[in-house]
Amino acid sequence: MNTEIHIPERILLGAGPSAAHPSVLAELARPTIGHLDPALFPVNDAIKKLLRYVFQSDDSLALPIPGTGTAAMEAAIANLVEPGEKILIGVNGFFGMRLAEIAKRYSANVETVNQEWGLPILPEHIELGLKNNPDTKVVALVHAETSTGVLSPIQDICKVVHQKNIPIIVDSVTSLGGEKLLTADWDIDFCYGATQKCLGATPGLGPVNLRARALEKLYSRKTPIATFYLDLLTVHKYWDAERMYHHTSPVNNLFSLLRALQLVKEEGIENRWLRHKKNAFALRKGLDVLGIKSFASQEYELNTLISVIIPDNVDDMKFRNQLYDQFNIEISGGLGDVKGKIWRIGLMGYSSRHENIVKLLNALETLLITNGNLKNKVNAVKYSEEAFSN
Ligand SMILES: *Cc1c(COP(=O)(O)O)cnc(C)c1O
Repeated sequence: MNTEIHIPERILLGAGPSAAHPSVLAELARPTIGHLDPALFPVNDAIKKLLRYVFQSDDSLALPIPGTGTAAMEAAIANLVEPGEKILIGVNGFFGMRLAEIAKRYSANVETVNQEWGLPILPEHIELGLKNNPDTKVVALVHAETSTGVLSPIQDICKVVHQKNIPIIVDSVTSLGGEKLLTADWDIDFCYGATQKCLGATPGLGPVNLRARALEKLYSRKTPIATFYLDLLTVHKYWDAERMYHHTSPVNNLFSLLRALQLVKEEGIENRWLRHKKNAFALRKGLDVLGIKSFASQEYELNTLISVIIPDNVDDMKFRNQLYDQFNIEISGGLGDVKGKIWRIGLMGYSSRHENIVKLLNALETLLITNGNLKNKVNAVKYSEEAFSN
């Protein structure tokens, strides 16, 4: 590729991006065609259909927004909240805080329901928040909080929110394609994700799904949407029969996303959730033997991102650099309040594989021993293998 800059091949087991399947990467190298070329339209239509499948949604608006998860996040807020309107946001980690920050910048009247990092947002928290803020127009929260490895029970939270007949925005960036998520059954109104986490594609697109309540809110706006680029009232016209130009669609990313979505369909979404669950279980068994403890509250642990407390006397940066240099493995450190306290191990999409768990456990064990943090070999891999065979 580049003769001067060396780009290593890493095993991506951090908070994202995760690995993309080779056939997904190959699609990026396909010759570019125009975004208004009729030859592209079947690609667009197939993407819309398969996005509804991965969201487990109904016949609603689904499209990929150019930009990463944060662009989809910003689109959700910018389109559903008008200046001065009250939005109630559940905050139990870094990405909940980001939602609140974005909402402030779009001049929303922001109220938060806060939970300690490592704990979930529960229906009763939102219920109380709504009782204290009866003028709330939209609720937003993160399904899978990637900064802590915690899953919040969205299904029951949706029920509480809908008693008020207002829409809920759900961040499914680290759950879409990896954790059980039923957008239609759970009645999520605006759900968004990202391609580089559990969908097994490269970074660059943020899928969104808007169902009836969200569309109603969008179409009844009294003020213009403050962002031109993420204005879904016009963006969707490119994805409809109109095929109207709004911005140049990132065509090669679309080829690649289509392949990734086809792989999800071929595997089956339920099988995919199960794979993530089994692999997380096996990794946890191995980590346990190494004396590495979980950070997230047990009942609410994610299968796509395992958060662990950094063992005593381990130098966070040095250790993670050793993982890069000696094993080509990436795991992530903590964000914000838990920086230097936790590691975040992602088992997302194509990265969530048995062979990666073996490589990581062997690397962790070797480094803990050579750095003097672990006295004897414990053979963590063996215990994780036993978990696999059960
Ligand atoms: C990664 C992430 C985002 C932001 O996505 P980017 O692709 O980094 O822009 C938003 N929310 C959650 C829960 C995430 O994990």
